[in-house]
Amino acid sequence: MLIAEDDPIFRRVLESWLQKWNYRVITLENGLDAWSILQQKDAPQMAILDWMMPGLDGIELCRRIRSQQPGHYKYVLLLTAKGSKEDIVAGLEAGADDYLTKPFDVNELRARVRAGKRILELQDALLSVQTELQFQSAHDHLTGLWNHGAIAGLLQREAQRSARMGHPLGVMMADLDHFKRINDSYGHQTGDAVLREVAGRMLASVRNYDYVGRYGGEEFLIVLTECTASALAATAERMRACISGTPVATDAGPIPVTVSIGCVTGHATGPSFPKGEDLLHAADTALYRAKNNGRNRVEHAPETRMASQSHAAAQ
Ligand code: GH3
Ligand code: MG
Ligand code: MG
Ligand code: MG
Repeated sequence: MLIAEDDPIFRRVLESWLQKWNYRVITLENGLDAWSILQQKDAPQMAILDWMMPGLDGIELCRRIRSQQPGHYKYVLLLTAKGSKEDIVAGLEAGADDYLTKPFDVNELRARVRAGKRILELQDALLSVQTELQFQSAHDHLTGLWNHGAIAGLLQREAQRSARMGHPLGVMMADLDHFKRINDSYGHQTGDAVLREVAGRMLASVRNYDYVGRYGGEEFLIVLTECTASALAATAERMRACISGTPVATDAGPIPVTVSIGCVTGHATGPSFPKGEDLLHAADTALYRAKNNGRNRVEHAPETRMASQSHAAAQ
């Protein structure tokens, strides 16, 4: 709770009541100091502002608060000796949520502050639901990775950004090998547990500014920003080895899993940078080749083929 009041007696009275009601209080003597506090990150969410103060008055302060970027709402109670209808309208129009005329009744102050607190609590609840919904709409609920729509959008965005910055972009399409057999042998739930573990190993194989998404059932799209062809080859191989290296521990016992990966590096050749969908298509074609060449291996799209890296491993 922030209190801005230039009258020392009112200030003291407000402060002591609010502290008595267990509010944490910051008390200031003028509007300018209040404004600088209210602009800070973790600023108080509720403010009691005197209308008439030197420097910046309560009305102007209300206007400034309302012109701030929307984020955490600030609840403003305007405290004023001006009690006419016109004044009250002007205060509310400037952005105050409520007002109290001086001299105020202490029970009324307490009730009005509580009403403000209820509004702020409602707003907090709405914000956390909104944050949760935003997360859910972009993430796959089984693995926690980006979902299909989100990773496809991220690929587009990063392709555009790479084109603008002149950076190479790495794209990998990874598909689990013979995954249907795992479901058929151990059941769908165990299959799900394998998917979750594989997702974790994929994340562990990339840098934390790369994007890993579940593109389809057991198919994953990975977008690696500012990634050269040789770094991409190394990462893909690390991921393949990390997934095949240790069987996945499940309730049904350890299950060996392998993955096939198709890679492409996007880089400007001539005037244009390949589009997201071109990179996707190239990675998909390379993946198809990895499957045909025996699975559990990495293949690169022809234009970025790296020095021979044969990973054919035991099937
Ligand atoms: P390949 O090596 O050619 O990729 O063979 P595959 O068996 O992995 O490929 P296929 O496309 O024939 O089968 C994919 C399987 O993935 C079939 C489907 O039931 C399973 N799958 C897709 N989504 C999920 C899921 O969310 N959970 C589980 N447990 N299985 C899934
Ligand atoms: Mg005053
Ligand atoms: Mg598969
Ligand atoms: Mg598949």
